[in-house]
Amino acid sequence: MTWVPSDIGPVCASTQANLTACSIGFIYLSLLQQLFGKPVDEQINYEYVINPVLGKISTNNFRREHVWGETNQHYDFIIVGAGSAGCVLANRLSEIKQWRCTSIGITYLTLLAQLFGRSVDDTKSTDDNPFIYPTINNGFEQRTYEESKNIKRNEYDYIIVGAGSAGCVLAHRLSEIKHWSILLLEAGEEEPEVTSIPGVATSLSESNIDWKYKSQPDGRTCLLEKGQVCPWIRGKTMGGSSAINYMVYMRGSSHDYDEWAAEGNHGWSYEEVLPYFDKSINLRDSESLDNNNYHGIGGELNVERFSYLDEPSKILVKGFLDKGLPIVDLGLESKVGVNINLSTSKDGKRQSTNQAFIKPIRDERPNLHIITNAFATKILIHPANKEAYAIQYFKGGKYYNVFANKEVIVSTGAINSPKLLKCSGVGPRDELESLGIPIIADLKVGYNLQDHVTTDALILKFSNPYSTVVSDSELLNEVIKYRNQPEKKSGPLASTTTVNSIAFINTKGSKDAPPNIQLQFDGRRAAEYMSDPTNYMATNILPSSFYDSVGARPLLLKPRSRGSVMLNKTDPIFGPPLIYTGYFQVQEDVNDLVDAMRFVVSLDETESFKKSGASFDKTPVKGCDHNEWGTDDYFKCLLMNYTASIYHPAGTCKMGPEWEEDAVVDPRFKVYGIRRLRVVDASTMRTIVRGNLNAPTIMMAEKASAMIKEDHIIY
Ligand SMILES: Cc1cc2nc3c(=O)[nH]c(=O)nc-3n(C[C@H](O)[C@H](O)[C@H](O)COP(=O)(O)OP(=O)(O)OC[C@H]3O[C@@H](n4cnc5c(N)ncnc54)[C@H](O)[C@@H]3O)c2cc1C
Repeated sequence: MTWVPSDIGPVCASTQANLTACSIGFIYLSLLQQLFGKPVDEQINYEYVINPVLGKISTNNFRREHVWGETNQHYDFIIVGAGSAGCVLANRLSEIKQWRCTSIGITYLTLLAQLFGRSVDDTKSTDDNPFIYPTINNGFEQRTYEESKNIKRNEYDYIIVGAGSAGCVLAHRLSEIKHWSILLLEAGEEEPEVTSIPGVATSLSESNIDWKYKSQPDGRTCLLEKGQVCPWIRGKTMGGSSAINYMVYMRGSSHDYDEWAAEGNHGWSYEEVLPYFDKSINLRDSESLDNNNYHGIGGELNVERFSYLDEPSKILVKGFLDKGLPIVDLGLESKVGVNINLSTSKDGKRQSTNQAFIKPIRDERPNLHIITNAFATKILIHPANKEAYAIQYFKGGKYYNVFANKEVIVSTGAINSPKLLKCSGVGPRDELESLGIPIIADLKVGYNLQDHVTTDALILKFSNPYSTVVSDSELLNEVIKYRNQPEKKSGPLASTTTVNSIAFINTKGSKDAPPNIQLQFDGRRAAEYMSDPTNYMATNILPSSFYDSVGARPLLLKPRSRGSVMLNKTDPIFGPPLIYTGYFQVQEDVNDLVDAMRFVVSLDETESFKKSGASFDKTPVKGCDHNEWGTDDYFKCLLMNYTASIYHPAGTCKMGPEWEEDAVVDPRFKVYGIRRLRVVDASTMRTIVRGNLNAPTIMMAEKASAMIKEDHIIY
């Protein structure tokens, strides 16, 4: 089974609230897993896709003889009893590469399990297991894994690390050159089929295809979350975050790119990036095609409007129209206005970059090799000539080195790219020295973190005829109905419903200026949310299509505050990085969001809201009930206590001209001071764009591919 859902058990055990997810959720997740847990691309020839030179590692142990959909499940090992022995066995056998927590207790127990977890008559030396070293030695000097007998040499022209939004595009474009050999390395699994269903995007977080990162507590944000930390969901599978995101297709504002160009990044004006948006898109929406502003059709990435549109989605758009916002095409430039948005989907199924750019060519191009479950631990860089020449990765308990004849391209996303660079000696001197990592280039890697912050505690209720809540059995039936439909999917699960009712506003009142706030809505069950907001959100795994209310989320499009991504001090390589969000350090960020909330609650006064009985829930939410609902203090309280992200981290390997002190890559994605190394993903956005990040990241990868071809004189 490729997909393992999140474990909502512990949260359910800790809540007094009557949460539907805690009753039907277990059956629902199990049904999803059985019906959609297998890889999205059943056709993959596993023996072929894995690098033949690496021989034995091609025996992917998850590829088994399954009859998908049957009620029996198959495992390689079944351990009965999760006691002292069972836990150690489970730890040893499940090859956990990523520790969820770095507390000394967990590290200690894991170390114990590693050192003493074998049976007493096991004579195999622990030295054979390189996994153990990162825990024992924080120093990097001792890690001479290259010399280990486990490592086999192999060579490619280009090694792309990370098969996410950017990585899949790069792999597609670079492998167009038949005489180039390309390796795409991905830490996660094959993309499971469950990702295809738009309505169940909520079910993917905290599953095995999420890195399950958390923010660091800062005393300012996420105050009512357990441990005062918020989830930072990141895709860990073929397709990366594009395989688990909410499929909104947007390009950002022309101002974003024109600002980049004006700040010295040649080639990045809106006019210059447009052809790269157009290159990938295959627009399937007749209304947008009619307006003639799109020039790209026939690209790899299918974009459409979902065929299923429910009443609350329409009520929301009408409300904004009543407020005087114009209808705009949100798939073009982000401008003040409202509409039902376009999605990266085809016939009611998700188009991840894996589906769009890799699946069609995977068995067609012998020059492209893909290795999944391969966690890159280090970029190997000659300390003398500062040239990147190989990637070290960890797979199935062993380390391997692969060598790049032309370039190494890091596309591991805005959290893991700075992490990988730093682990390789490219980063800020202070931090690297404190961890004993030899410095190769002293660069401001990991700073400049930006995100579109919001809150999830502003609840808008729909009156009864517009509630889309269904009974438990109907909900399960919808899953089966979706499964049983032929290729073209329709109905509530073939849509993200209200997520696509999107408005852009400018809280400063200027309609011609670019927007500073995006308003997005996601389905909820109001009474359950109000009874225990934190645990409701922690178990929010049911389809977003069935709801009686929405969370109204104002997204801060141009944050002034900055955060950072730091290495885990206990275990820099395998430990989760430390994410300091930096949210709300600048008061104006809070003010803009408060203004936005004031604007959005005024929808109550509109004709369409009054007519339909839609209105904001004016009961103060737990933890903010000392404030009067609707006051500035109340809104501020929501931001601090119920802080939320829509998971758009960017900027941590900042692109910038040579003279900029904090630039990490140049405008052609080349890492300053290092030869043959580029970073291409959302981390290189110098400032976050005004809109969702998937399409802009894909555009950047298109542009990077063209630059790489240009640099190697292909044209
Ligand atoms: C829940 C969610 C909802 C979102 N909704 C939207 C939306 O509706 N619309 C939109 O436009 N954007 C949305 N986004 C944001 C968008 O999807 C991301 O900004 C974009 O996908 C980032 O692309 P990337 O290439 O930078 O990174 P990713 O797509 O995250 O790719 C990074 C890849 O690298 C792999 N990797 C990481 N470390 C290693 C390693 N050491 N070795 C090997 N592989 C590694 C990862 O597993 C992953 O596959 C959403 C994101 C999330 C998480």
